[in-house]
Amino acid sequence: MLDTLGRPLESLRVSVTDRCNLRCAYCMPEEEYRWLPRADLLSYEEIARLASAFREVGVRRLRLTGGEPLLRRDLAHLVRLLEFEDLALTTNGILLAAQARELREAGLHRVTVSLDTLRPERFRELARRDSLEQVLEGIEAARREFGTLKLDTVVMRGVNEDELEELLSYARSVNAELRFIEYMDVGGATRWSHEKVLSRSEILERVGPAEPLAGRGSAPAERFQLPDGQVFGIVASTTAPFCSDCDRARLTADGRLFTCLYATRGTDLREPLRAGESQAELAGRIRAVWQARGDRGAEERALLRRRGSFVSLEELRENPHLEMHTRGG
Ligand code: SF4
Repeated sequence: MLDTLGRPLESLRVSVTDRCNLRCAYCMPEEEYRWLPRADLLSYEEIARLASAFREVGVRRLRLTGGEPLLRRDLAHLVRLLEFEDLALTTNGILLAAQARELREAGLHRVTVSLDTLRPERFRELARRDSLEQVLEGIEAARREFGTLKLDTVVMRGVNEDELEELLSYARSVNAELRFIEYMDVGGATRWSHEKVLSRSEILERVGPAEPLAGRGSAPAERFQLPDGQVFGIVASTTAPFCSDCDRARLTADGRLFTCLYATRGTDLREPLRAGESQAELAGRIRAVWQARGDRGAEERALLRRRGSFVSLEELRENPHLEMHTRGG
């Protein structure tokens, strides 16, 4: 099953909650947010039913996200209900130490933890919470339980650009693969400006000589190897978008399907699900959406002469589905 640009649907990001226990400057910089109504949130059983409809049309990899997914009670129960070749979790790590073992035992394969700084004060400033210690404990727990993990670092000029080496050496010490992510102008990034983006080429310059590794496939990160053998990645969504290989759909916690991080409209799957549609009917809906898909949001953004935030604060207040923390990053 291919979209209009010949791309298969192979991976799904499922947001289990729009809530988060951090307020990172690049994602949730405002004081107040409009949350999704609780009655609209899918139960774990409903998520599992939709997930298997996605599996029926070709999805092989599923990633649980949020908001912060570990804020949702007993996430391991959902993990037990999901059967995928690759089942991963992206978390800010704060609640991970207490849950890593149970999640692994439930069948989770991989964990990615967001880590933008190793300095407690900077963490407090950037995320407006004092939680670095818990994050580092979470990373340790993930290393113990899963052997290895990924770390995601959003690099912002003037904020954490001076920590690239420290972060790499920390990643080495916990057997993690670090990925530097360019600051993106997605919904919710209302303070974004081009000047604050540290580009892929600047990151490479600062990190020093590194050999590109082959075999990227549809993965968002390009991977590189340092002379000492350490491997790291760069997700250059802003300056070198990779939409032509994008095989990803997103499902929000209230059951809306988005086919691009920059899509302004989604397709409601909750209503048909709650109306009792069969698995085959739900799969048919997903198929129809994917086959009509022509999204290449990041590539289109890169062509703009003047680039600012993707959507205004007023639009975000009007429509929380435009927020990155709602549609699962
Ligand atoms: S911008 Fe949209 S199409 Fe491009 S890689 Fe991101 S989600 Fe995929």
